[in-house]
Amino acid sequence: SDHHLDYPKSPTEMDWSTHYPAFVSEESSSELSLNVPIKQVDRPLMKKKVEFADLGCGYGGLLFSLSPLYPETLMLGMEIRVKVEEYVREKIIALRLQHPGQYQNISIIRMNVMKFLPNFFEKGQLSKMFFLFPDPHFKARKHKARVITNQLLAEYAYVLRVGGIIYTISDVKDLHEWMVKHLDEHPLFERIPDEEVEKDPVIPFVRTDTEEGKKVERNKGEKFLACYRRIMNQ
Ligand code: SAM
Repeated sequence: SDHHLDYPKSPTEMDWSTHYPAFVSEESSSELSLNVPIKQVDRPLMKKKVEFADLGCGYGGLLFSLSPLYPETLMLGMEIRVKVEEYVREKIIALRLQHPGQYQNISIIRMNVMKFLPNFFEKGQLSKMFFLFPDPHFKARKHKARVITNQLLAEYAYVLRVGGIIYTISDVKDLHEWMVKHLDEHPLFERIPDEEVEKDPVIPFVRTDTEEGKKVERNKGEKFLACYRRIMNQ
């Protein structure tokens, strides 16, 4: 149940400083240390904003792989299960201790990706959104619980910048076709041709570095990938 999830009223109310302490702007920390009351902002200023979001990140395999590759890009995992969020949060803390200066750019939030996304991110803030092996919800009456729907795509299009990319992958052909259908139908997304997708440096990690991706690999299952670019309003 997600009745007790906290979410900010708007992106400006979100305090990212506890998630990415290494990216707190020096201006705001010097102001804080001088003990000057900050009137305009009531939370530390950040040097960077979150750009990559892994929606339903599970055990966070993608974040852990991408973190050292894009050390200056802030990435956020979003996960609804309490225990799983806790596991990833603790793993991030441990990695930061073991590797000083590293893994500062990744964090996780417990949240329902189907709700309040625009409360966390401004319009056009994100450059990549990952939907890797989302829950299939096989039964027709459960289809509304799928993370790609017309209504949700409007929200994703809002937080994703023009030129930004949605990555989807699934071992469930029916779900893959569902995601492709909805994304194809949406006027703000355009499918990226396979040849171009294969040149994207994050793709190998999308395929193999999440826990679910590894499980599918062990079971010799097939993986269906589809990536879409956010395009301008025509
Ligand atoms: N992406 C991960 C991977 O590839 O290993 C996890 C895949 S797992 C099959 C789906 C994950 O999405 C689960 O961890 C589940 O708890 C999470 N999830 C499902 N619905 C969600 C929602 N509405 N909001 C946030 N997380 C959700």
